Amino acid sequence: MSLELNNVNLTYPDGDGVVTALDDVSVRVEPGELAAVVGPSGSGKSSLLAVAATLIRPASGRVSVGGTDTLGMRPRELSELRLNRIGIVFQQPNLISALTAVEQLMVTEHMRARPLREARRTALETLASVGLDGKEHRRPHQLSGGERQRVNIARALSARPDALLVDEPTAALDHERGARIVDLLSEATRTFDVATLLVTHDTEYLGAAKQVLEMRDGRLSAYETA
Ligand code: ADP
Ligand code: MG
Repeated sequence: MSLELNNVNLTYPDGDGVVTALDDVSVRVEPGELAAVVGPSGSGKSSLLAVAATLIRPASGRVSVGGTDTLGMRPRELSELRLNRIGIVFQQPNLISALTAVEQLMVTEHMRARPLREARRTALETLASVGLDGKEHRRPHQLSGGERQRVNIARALSARPDALLVDEPTAALDHERGARIVDLLSEATRTFDVATLLVTHDTEYLGAAKQVLEMRDGRLSAYETA
């Protein structure tokens, strides 16, 4: 089931007025497909992901995740949706220092009320799928920056979500590691048949994307290479 935004508008209060963050934005991403969004700082990319993640409700327009329209949903239903059907990856991995890689994933599995054995199996399986075989029992300080981002991605995938929303995952990494993270996201998109929306400032990574979009002043359009 696809991830779909239709005619989404979003403003933030700004002094006496408002600032338009998203201006009539529409995008549709199919399962197993990676769509990339590029654009300058302040153009609205993170706002787009926040709306797609149902973390912010747009002023108008529709957001549907996995074929479910989120418009009429109550806060509690939205929480369930985010926990079970949406994977979110931010720039910083936000891992808990005291926990091993497998435990990082088990925390969220626990919130999904998965039985312990099943949670552990899913966690190990997902870590293996992002190339962390043999490193499941390491804590964040024993992992490289790229590996920590892999744990973060694995955690977002552990629910087997319909949508994966990724905000500048390579920003803290060197070019080579950044490229490998994008390759991984592209592979995971197919393996887990998830609709992936990837925000990146680096236009060199766009080969893996089925569609490349450009955000400018809150408006989304097809990206034209210069
Ligand atoms: P990007 O991720 O492309 O840098 P953002 O979505 O973060 O862009 O921001 C888009 C615009 O909305 C910017 O002008 C930014 O200053 C503004 N903005 C973002 N978040 C808020 C907020 N919580 N309150 C007010 N303005 C915001
Ligand atoms: Mg941003």
